[in-house]
Amino acid sequence: APTGSGEAPGEARLTVLAGPTAVGKGTVAAEIRERFPDVWISVSATTRKARPGEQHGVHYLFVSDEEFDRMIADGELLEWAVVHKAARYGTPKQPVLDKLADGRPALLEIDLQGARQVRETMPEAHFVFLAPPSWDELVRRLVGRGTETAEERERRLETAVLELAAEKEFDVTIVNASVREAADQLVKLIRSPNISGKS
Ligand code: 5GP
Repeated sequence: APTGSGEAPGEARLTVLAGPTAVGKGTVAAEIRERFPDVWISVSATTRKARPGEQHGVHYLFVSDEEFDRMIADGELLEWAVVHKAARYGTPKQPVLDKLADGRPALLEIDLQGARQVRETMPEAHFVFLAPPSWDELVRRLVGRGTETAEERERRLETAVLELAAEKEFDVTIVNASVREAADQLVKLIRSPNISGKS
């Protein structure tokens, strides 16, 4: 049995966190990584280049297009998607299955297309939507991050409009007004054996 997680064997479940671009999914995941190390967070594979400070194997598995093709062909990904028409991202399947089999809660921080795929294959998962306090605040965060060109920002905003409309597909919404509180709420859900009538 795992120690410190408070989970009984067999109760652990997958939690999928999705939400619009720049809402702060990555920041909330980083907060959980730091304050709740017993919560295992999946490390995605991606074909995009690492940003300064990002480490291979910690934030992402940075792989070539050829390696990503191979992972798809070999059935190694639980889900994958092209995000912002820019790069491919996917969740390695086996580590997720291993954690759940160990009775440890697992978290995926993925985009909406990926969340929809997981709902097809693992409908028993918790699906959590991270929402911005307002549209204006979402735009501010997207511009404030300053890591994208104007053209990329435009593309991400277009995606965000569609992504906001997807909230109704989710079990639970967490509003990301404060990263600390959003992380607290999410961890509570991750550790709860049953939400929204799923069992
Ligand atoms: P970024 O490039 O800013 O780290 O992430 C861009 C987007 O890719 C975010 O919306 C993030 O949620 C999404 N993403 C990260 N990993 C995965 C994954 O494994 N699968 C899918 N479908 N999306 C992912």
